[in-house]
Amino acid sequence: MMSCIDSRVIMTRLLQSNVGDMLLVRNAGNFVPHSDTLRENATSTEAAALELGCCVNNIRHVVVCGHSDCKAMAALFASRDTVNETGGTPIAKWVKRHGLATVKKYHELEKAGGVGPITFVTGSTLKQLKAFIDRDNQFSPVDKFSQVNTLQQLENIFSHEFIMERVVADKVRLNAMWFDVYTGDFYMFSRERETFVLVTQTSYEHLVADAECW
Ligand SMILES: [Zn+2]
Repeated sequence: MMSCIDSRVIMTRLLQSNVGDMLLVRNAGNFVPHSDTLRENATSTEAAALELGCCVNNIRHVVVCGHSDCKAMAALFASRDTVNETGGTPIAKWVKRHGLATVKKYHELEKAGGVGPITFVTGSTLKQLKAFIDRDNQFSPVDKFSQVNTLQQLENIFSHEFIMERVVADKVRLNAMWFDVYTGDFYMFSRERETFVLVTQTSYEHLVADAECW
């Protein structure tokens, strides 16, 4: 589980998980570095956690969970026109370091009328993910941006060769969730419906069947 450090996003409590249920990684903005950013001596606790979880502990489901009113997303959204510039505060440097792809994808969303679809590519057309964002126009621009960022992390996770191999072999599945901190609602991305779908008593069973993105 990759989630944000926001104090309202306590995944172990929200999902009522027990000891041994979940390997949890948190950072500001629930980013997972793309493999291209980890050449040579660069390290990433997120990539290391993916290897520990999926290769050592044989975890089968990787989930990225974004959320509403995310301050890290707000910081990236505010600096989206200067995302290529270096410097700034620690949070500005962090989000710009890992958020360039999200900014580009959000520009694609704007060009596509603000709803999409936008496509997340993983090197194989078989593994493309098409996504509409907030069809009902109920969320703020930063929240829409956060949903794009959440899906972008799936693309980043897939970029790591050891994950790619396991996804192709159907040993690992990648999923995207989004949490509304004000309503307590959870959304899961449905590959079939090509958007985040509210998790309810009635939608739950269907979502479990078709939620996995890759
Ligand atoms: Zn956050």
